Amino acid sequence: MTGGAGYIGSVVAARLVAEGHDVVVLDDLSTGHADAVPRGAMFVHGDLRADAAGVLNGGIEAVLHFAARSLVGESVANPALYWASNLGGTLALLEAMRVAGVRSIVFSSTAATYGEPDSVPVRESAPARPTSPYGASKLAVDTVLAEYCLMHGFGAVSLRYFNVAGAYLEGDVRLGERHARETHLIPNILSVALGGQEELSIFGDDYPTADGSCVRDYIHVRDLADAHLLALAGCTPGRHAVYNLGNGNGYSTFEVLAACREVTGTEIPARVGGRRPGDPAVLIASSELIGLELNWRPERDLSAMVRDAWDFARWRWRDGRA
Ligand code: UDP
Repeated sequence: MTGGAGYIGSVVAARLVAEGHDVVVLDDLSTGHADAVPRGAMFVHGDLRADAAGVLNGGIEAVLHFAARSLVGESVANPALYWASNLGGTLALLEAMRVAGVRSIVFSSTAATYGEPDSVPVRESAPARPTSPYGASKLAVDTVLAEYCLMHGFGAVSLRYFNVAGAYLEGDVRLGERHARETHLIPNILSVALGGQEELSIFGDDYPTADGSCVRDYIHVRDLADAHLLALAGCTPGRHAVYNLGNGNGYSTFEVLAACREVTGTEIPARVGGRRPGDPAVLIASSELIGLELNWRPERDLSAMVRDAWDFARWRWRDGRA
């Protein structure tokens, strides 16, 4: 697994270990944390280009590829970084896989491959018109994967995540979002609740939505992890499958704020600011296809996501962890 020291990768690693799989995590720790790699997984601190071939020679059966740069704003400011890491790094990985004869891969794609959708819910057949280098670099990888399936007999699944939230809390294992620069809505709101920030800035209330704020489809990281296990089992030689992953429900920024106020029992001051460039008004997934083909269903709602994210945030805060 690449990127297993990051938020989503570490949760999937924990699930795989819990299911009895042997897991090797390759991560350069550029944004991840070594202590997020679950006990029971082997950790290799290294880089895709230099180290993937060595890891793959150790009897690997399949790859889950999470390692990537994933901030839309940063990608607009520094496209070269995104193309080099997201596309260049993946090309190196795929070549190393081809040489080693490892042909199954589950890839972390994104709703950002669609850009501003014409209609919602967004199906996999919707036109892919990314509006950022981040989305474009992920779409390029999806295209390369289709070719590797066709030309080299790979079996690949691209999972297009919508808005991932929540945490994995199991015994003494606690895994959640802990980005150095937090941009995501729910952790930002919870940081205000904990006193880490004075107020939440709501990015625009003049969108063509019921309350004027953006609407997003939030999915619990545990539901997402379940989808990865099913995708792994569903990799079929010669086939590239693409699945959207969301709950199929849209929540506005104001609704998410209300859910966080309810769960935390705190007031959470918020102020409406300007729009964030590149934010589509409404993004809601249709996850019908993965339901039909892999029998995946989301099981956790927005309040479960907020509750778990809140438990995780309080635990880190209490222990003075960064
Ligand atoms: N958002 C906001 N204030 C914040 C962070 C996010 O109003 O401090 C809004 C943002 O405009 C978007 C939604 O919350 O509509 C989700 O943003 P996030 O960055 O979590 O995920 P994205 O949709 O960009 O993947």
